[in-house]
Amino acid sequence: MEGKCSVEYLEKAKAYRDTHKEEAKAYRQKYYADNKAYLLTYLLKPVTCECGFECALSNLKRHQKTRIHAKRMVKDIIEKPDLKQLKLKTKIEKLEKQLLELKSIL
Ligand SMILES: [Zn+2]
Repeated sequence: MEGKCSVEYLEKAKAYRDTHKEEAKAYRQKYYADNKAYLLTYLLKPVTCECGFECALSNLKRHQKTRIHAKRMVKDIIEKPDLKQLKLKTKIEKLEKQLLELKSIL
């Protein structure tokens, strides 16, 4: 099969990377120097997740996929009945909407 990921293409790409190593390194160093302030601000900016966990902004999405986040969210729902009720209410509203849609189809 011809395409971007053919063995020939991958070999060529690897050969290019090997012969342009210094160029790539210089580019990365220049990019870091030019954007140091932004990168450090972004990487280290402290944020608080909806579960109450504090972490860096650059780590937030990764944190939200962890078991710790899931556990804290579940704990929140159990400990705060208002929040639980609110979530159930929105779920019920959503289901009622779907029911109305289905009735209109029939
Ligand atoms: Zn979280």
